[in-house]
Amino acid sequence: MNKIFRLLAPQSLVSAAAVAAVILCLVVAGNLGFILVVDGMFERTIAFHATQAIVVSTPFVVGFTVITTSQLRLQRHLSLLSRKDGLTGLNNRRTFLQLAQKRLDGGSAGVLLLLDADHFKQINDKWGHAVGDRCLTEIAHRLKWNLRPSDVAGRIGGEEFAVLLSSATLHEARVIGWRIGQPIPFRAVDNGPHLSVTLSMGAAEIAPGISLDVHLIRADEALYRAKAQGRARMVVWEPMDKSDENAA
Ligand code: GH3
Ligand code: MG
Ligand code: MG
Repeated sequence: MNKIFRLLAPQSLVSAAAVAAVILCLVVAGNLGFILVVDGMFERTIAFHATQAIVVSTPFVVGFTVITTSQLRLQRHLSLLSRKDGLTGLNNRRTFLQLAQKRLDGGSAGVLLLLDADHFKQINDKWGHAVGDRCLTEIAHRLKWNLRPSDVAGRIGGEEFAVLLSSATLHEARVIGWRIGQPIPFRAVDNGPHLSVTLSMGAAEIAPGISLDVHLIRADEALYRAKAQGRARMVVWEPMDKSDENAA
């Protein structure tokens, strides 16, 4: 099928003219062939010409339908690939930021979470990259199972994720953060040893009139504090002097 597409797709004006000429020749040949085959068998009524049009055009209509359908499928597939993270199926960084920006533009309240897998490099180093990947998909499952349809989640970096908890209060964010933050079990191989990974999280409450970039910086600062305070926890962003009160 791809070969046919490549053949039909005009690479230049000359090849576009050549393809058009070939199609026209086929139409002419089809019409002449039809007339030669049925010549003298039927009277040349309107029904005759209608049948001729249907017989000659059917292969072209079928070809056109097959091509447009598979182009549409390809387009949908490419669109999915450009929006989603290939490993986890979550939104990729660009899509997450676009969707989060839309929520902020719409005046949505809520809480932004940045999440980072703890000591993830050790998992890669000890068990290999494929096991690291398996661990990342388990983290994504944890997010998918614990978020509401209105929330937005994405994988925004190697072992970094982001969630926008729409319309959530800080209290609700702490509850969701607690659920997400429980150690995530996974296995290196089927029937292999039980492993687990924890997440550090930084939370920033959405404040009206403040840009997404600033919320991301705030959540990142809180995440940094969560790492510094021992990992496997959520810290809510507040100005430096108050941060220790918020370790959850
Ligand atoms: P910390 O607790 O401070 O976050 O430590 P860490 O080990 O999680 O963080 P670090 O930044 O040192 O290591 C992150 C590792 O994630 C390094 C990189 O090779 C790995 N990584 C990034 N993307 C992928 C991926 O798609 N698959 C796998 N298996 N590993 C990845
Ligand atoms: Mg990281
Ligand atoms: Mg990490």
